[in-house]
Amino acid sequence: MKLTVLAGGVGGARFTHGLYRLWPQDLSVVVNTGDDFQLHGLSICPDLDTVLYTLADWADPVQGWGLRGDTSVCSTQLARLGGETWFRLGDLDLATHLFRTQRLSQGASLTQVTAELAQSAGLSLALLPMCDSPVPTKLRLASGWVDFQDYFVRRQHADAVLECRYQGAAQTPPAAGVVQALRQAERILLAPSNPFLSLQPIFSLQGFAQLWQECRVRKLAISPMIGEAAVKGPLASLLASLGHPVNSLGIAHCLRDWVDTLVIDEGDRALQPAIEALGLKVVCTPTLMQDVAGRERLARLALDV
Ligand code: GDP
Ligand code: CA
Repeated sequence: MKLTVLAGGVGGARFTHGLYRLWPQDLSVVVNTGDDFQLHGLSICPDLDTVLYTLADWADPVQGWGLRGDTSVCSTQLARLGGETWFRLGDLDLATHLFRTQRLSQGASLTQVTAELAQSAGLSLALLPMCDSPVPTKLRLASGWVDFQDYFVRRQHADAVLECRYQGAAQTPPAAGVVQALRQAERILLAPSNPFLSLQPIFSLQGFAQLWQECRVRKLAISPMIGEAAVKGPLASLLASLGHPVNSLGIAHCLRDWVDTLVIDEGDRALQPAIEALGLKVVCTPTLMQDVAGRERLARLALDV
């Protein structure tokens, strides 16, 4: 069965890792690039790198992003020189950004560079950026519009988000590999990723809604909410400030037009009737991926439903 997954960073990477261990051959993962930005002249793609490092078993097990055993010699020296240090790049991690920036400057597409990185990491799946040109996510806070990394890293996602914009998405088609992966998919899965910051940027691409409609296969999402909390990150705060219930029913509001089935945590079974009333099928199961076995278990369920 050909599988295509849509994913952001940490939640996307954990779930995709489980799928990859069970299904390493016919797997494509379409990754959000709305968080991508330039720093020190380098092209940085945080979600692609989180998925790459996790699948390659290179990820830092505590943070869930960055590389295991990485050091910060370069950042320390950069601070001495008075350089920008609000976004810390590890020494090993820098190599990825150097490689990517160099290949892009030679005219390679982001799709091509990402495939080269995946191949160097020994991965057999198709690791696909959602598109080949920048579609930066912008967020409106009480103080005005800011860049994604300004909100997420510099301000530590402490502000309420009042509106999200995916700049240029309506004029940017999905990358060719993404179109192919969706057309060929026999099942489409949405990782438990942030709907506003990781999935909506993908959905907002030019022609994406129609492409999605033409894929007449099972479409299943895993909710990133467990009870009234996100496992990680600002999702609960975003649901609240954007006017949705702060639980998996809020996720159902966001995804109802995109999937037929929503997997929610078994502790949230009481939400099942309200989610079904939106026209979605509901599957209840433990959705916390505490370890690799937990990732595989959730992946198995997504394949078996
Ligand atoms: P980001 O780009 O690093 O923010 O990552 P994603 O958008 O892919 O994923 C963020 C979401 O992953 C958060 O809202 C978390 O609630 C969710 N998440 C992380 N780990 C787990 C887990 O073990 N189970 C579930 N259900 N969600 C998770
Ligand atoms: Ca992200």
